[in-house]
Amino acid sequence: MTPDDTRPETAESAALFARALAVTPGGVNSPVRAFNAVGGTPRFVQRASGAFLYDADGREYVDLICSWGPMLLGHAHPGVQAAVQEAVSRGTSYGTPTVPEVELAEEIVVRTPVEKVRFVSSGTEATMSAIRLARGFTGRELVVKFAGCYHGHVDALLAAAGSGLATLSVPGTPGVPVASTAATLVLPYNDPAAVERAFAEHGDEIACVITEASPGNMGVVPPLPGFNKMLAETCARHGALFVSDEVMTGFRVSRSGQWGLDGAREGWTPDLVTFGKVMGGGFPAAAFGGRADVMAMLSPEGPVYQAGTLSGNPVATTAGLATLRLATEEVYAGLDRAAGLLADEVDKALTEAGVAHVVQAGGNMFSAFLLDEPPTTDSVRDFAAASAQNVARYRAFFHAMLDQGVYLPPSAFEAWFLSSAHDDAVLDRVVSALPAAARAAAA
Ligand code: PLP
Repeated sequence: MTPDDTRPETAESAALFARALAVTPGGVNSPVRAFNAVGGTPRFVQRASGAFLYDADGREYVDLICSWGPMLLGHAHPGVQAAVQEAVSRGTSYGTPTVPEVELAEEIVVRTPVEKVRFVSSGTEATMSAIRLARGFTGRELVVKFAGCYHGHVDALLAAAGSGLATLSVPGTPGVPVASTAATLVLPYNDPAAVERAFAEHGDEIACVITEASPGNMGVVPPLPGFNKMLAETCARHGALFVSDEVMTGFRVSRSGQWGLDGAREGWTPDLVTFGKVMGGGFPAAAFGGRADVMAMLSPEGPVYQAGTLSGNPVATTAGLATLRLATEEVYAGLDRAAGLLADEVDKALTEAGVAHVVQAGGNMFSAFLLDEPPTTDSVRDFAAASAQNVARYRAFFHAMLDQGVYLPPSAFEAWFLSSAHDDAVLDRVVSALPAAARAAAA
C-alpha cells in the first residue's frame, strides 16, 4: 500500500502517511480513517477548532465527521477544555473511585432510562459487557443482531456488521472462532416478521436482542415507527433482554439519545443500554447500564465479571460531564435545524445534477445514498437496500467536497455528523460546495 495522492497540496499528509504505513497496518489505527473505499491520502490533522479541522499541509476543512460522533459541541470547546485542564492538573488516573465518575453516572441516570451504569473505555467494551451480562442474567446464549448494525469489534457481533466491515465489503473477519458467532442470529433490519419467526423458533434460548437504537453504520437507516417498541415487547414476552446500542445516538440525537425520540414517547424502556462517543467528550469513555436488577448481577455485586484499569478515568469522565452539562435543549434544537437544512440542500444538489439518491435522517444524523436507478421505495430500510448504493458515485462526491474543504466520512456507509459549532456561515460553506460535488457524482 502506498499513498496515491501526489499533489503538492497533500505533500505533508502523504509523507506522514508513508511513515505511518511503515509502522502501522494500513497506516491507521482504525480502518474507517483510511481512504481505502474512496482512494487517496487520509489527511493528517494537527489541530481542530469549532467546526474546523486543520491538516499538516495547513489546509482547513469543515468537519462533517466530528470524530465519528463524539464532538457534539465542536472541537476545543472552551468549557470542556477548561474542565479537562483543571482535571489534568490534579493527576490523570488513580485506580480508585472518584467524584467525576459518580457525577457523570448521576447525569446519565437522570437523562436516560437506565437505573445503574458501569463505565468502560470504548463502545466495543460496552456492547461486549452488555452481552455477557444479558447471557449471565438469563442463563441463555443466543444473541439476535441485525445485518448492517455495527456494535464494535466484539467477536460475537462481527457477523454481517456495518461501518468498516461494510465499507470494505467483508461479511465477517478471520480470527473470530466459528463458535463465537454460532450463537448469533443475524436478521434483516426493520423486519418485524423476521423477529417473530426467530422468537417462534428459538424464544427460550435467546438471551438478548441487540440493535443500534437508530442505525448509522450502514449509512443512516432509522427504525420504522414502532420497530424498537416491537423489539422491546417481543423480548419481554419471551424473557429475553432488549439491549439498545446508543453508542452513536446517545446524547447526540436528543438529551438522552434515540430513546428520547421513541421510547420515552411510546412508553417502553430497554433492559440494557450502551453508550460511548458523546459521553466521553472526545476522550475514551463509554458505558453500559440498565435495569437495577440486571445490573446487580455485575461484579463485585454479582457473579458476572467485568473490569477495566482505566474505566471511569477522571479526565475522561470530567470531559464527558462538561460536555453533557453544556448540551442544552437549545444545542439539540440547533443541531436538528442545521441537519434538516443541510440534508435538504444535499437532496436539492443531487436532484439538480440528476443523480438518483435517497437522503435520509435519523434525528440530527443523516447521510446520502447515491444510486444508479431511482429508488423503488421512499426510504432505505435495511442493509440490502443500503448496499445497493453506487460507491463510485460517493467516491467522486467525497473527493469533490474534500477538494473544496469539506471533510465527509471516507465511506458511503457512515453517518454525517454536525456540532453546535456548525453555524450558518459554516453551513453556507458546505452548501456552496454541493453543486460541484453533485455534478462530479453524476459523471
Ligand atoms: N456501537 C455503535 C452503534 C457504534 O457506532 C460503535 C462505533 O462506531 C461502537 C458500538 C463501538 O464503539 P468503539 O469504536 O468506541 O469501540
